[in-house]
Amino acid sequence: MDYNKLAELLFPNITKDPADYEKIYPERKLPAGAKVTRLGPSPTGFIHLGNLYGAFVDERLAHQSDGIFYLRIEDTDDKRQVEGAVEAIISSLEFFGVTFDEGASMEGDKGDYGPYSQSQRAEIYQTYVKQLVQRGEAYPCFCTEEELTAIREEQESLKENPGYYGKWAKHRDLSAAEIESRIQAGHSFVIRLRSKGTHDCAEEEIKTISVEDGIRGTLTMPENDQDVVLLKANGIPTYHFAHVVDDHLMRTTHVVRGAEWLPSLPIHVELFHALGWPLPVYCHTAQLMKMEDGNKRKLSKRKDPELSLDYYRSEGYHPKAVREYLLTILNSNYEEWRMENPDAPQEAFAFTVEKMSNSGTLFDLDKLNDISKDVLVKLPASELCEFLKAWAGAYQQPLVGLFEGREEYLMRILDLGREGDKPRKDFVFARQMFEFISYFYDDYFKIEDAYPENVSNEDAKIILSAYLEGYDHSDDQALWFDKIREIATANGYAAKPKDYKKNPELYKGHVGDVSTVVRIALMGRAMSPDLWEIQQILGEENTRERIKKSI
Ligand code: GLU
Repeated sequence: MDYNKLAELLFPNITKDPADYEKIYPERKLPAGAKVTRLGPSPTGFIHLGNLYGAFVDERLAHQSDGIFYLRIEDTDDKRQVEGAVEAIISSLEFFGVTFDEGASMEGDKGDYGPYSQSQRAEIYQTYVKQLVQRGEAYPCFCTEEELTAIREEQESLKENPGYYGKWAKHRDLSAAEIESRIQAGHSFVIRLRSKGTHDCAEEEIKTISVEDGIRGTLTMPENDQDVVLLKANGIPTYHFAHVVDDHLMRTTHVVRGAEWLPSLPIHVELFHALGWPLPVYCHTAQLMKMEDGNKRKLSKRKDPELSLDYYRSEGYHPKAVREYLLTILNSNYEEWRMENPDAPQEAFAFTVEKMSNSGTLFDLDKLNDISKDVLVKLPASELCEFLKAWAGAYQQPLVGLFEGREEYLMRILDLGREGDKPRKDFVFARQMFEFISYFYDDYFKIEDAYPENVSNEDAKIILSAYLEGYDHSDDQALWFDKIREIATANGYAAKPKDYKKNPELYKGHVGDVSTVVRIALMGRAMSPDLWEIQQILGEENTRERIKKSI
């Protein structure tokens, strides 16, 4: 068969050849050891934790080595595309501190290796497929859906491996005349790889390939024998072919992607060989798992809202906390490093793929929450204030008016109990933060807890009346508490909890019960930071007002 003629017949409009693209996209001029990484999301509208997890690895590898991290939009499957998805990907990753040096951006493509959306690179892919056809390494296949189904069913009934390979590859050896007549009749076709893999042989004769995975070490797998589709009937490539061409031409050195791609690695290895290119370093990250009823299972889009990145934004997780948590699950030595370097910036940690886990990575929301507390306690009130305002602007509009113009008030609230060497770690994420401080805002203040059981309603009124009468906003903390003690003893409550414990029959309760009554009147809650400090923030008028309302 004259393959050149076949290539012309299949691709009459392709006039460039691979050498042209090698010139357009030359080797990058980067310092020795610099890594070039990329994120290749499909714009399906769902951005998940796995994307961020992978992006983090990419970002660290590139930026720790003075390399390049770029964004490529893998939009070859138009059925799965969603309007606005690219913007959503970029803004979501940016929120979590992942920024790209090159590639697709809000303002269009940035960089010399574009276009960075696969849908705009059809001509490039076709040029390389044309070359494979010229070499007899790819061929057109006209099989219809029905024919492919029939092949699959027959394979099933004979218990043979499924797929399009060897003797099952019906159009592998069509004659030039057959191809021509089908094309003239307008039959649609895909282009398939003519795989060199061995098939139809005993198991032990199947050749294997070895690949050095950056995370997993040497991987040994059976070689590919499938005549995979390179170009679909619409001339757009499959993921397999597109990423190989792009990662080569964009001069990617490290391909970080999820473990779900491991089974197709042999295809990619064969494609790199067929095109005569060296393999990038593949780094297959572990799946994100969660514990459920004592078993580990994969995080699922349907069952686990926390898989979606939107979840963290709408709950108001601080990006620093999410990053800190991801680093702890990405590198097994991060936590130890953090203990030794409590105040160092995250970037100071030397991230390595070798320290990544290759079995399922456990994702634990409780752990994230704990880490978040540690991160937020270190942020100054001014930063927390800005963060809360931004979160409210995006997710809780009614709160914007509460915060706007009253930043001083908010900052005092946020700093409550955070001084000293044992600062309170009350804050986890914005939604919870507001819930926690909501009693400072009259519109949100409500009585949530009941008075202690041993305090009658009548006593509560007496306590509060006495408290109001003796209240002096300028009292210092010691004087203020002495007054509460007096109210306690005057009404049959022990001045000290330990007095009560010794002789419980002598008292109705102790001073703690008395202050709880005041606390509930002022905050609606039995538990809170320091009562005296809260009054100082609330102000005299509001303090008196709330006590009065409870009497
Ligand atoms: N487009 C692929 C995905 O969204 C990316 C895989 C890769 O990074 O190579 O899963």
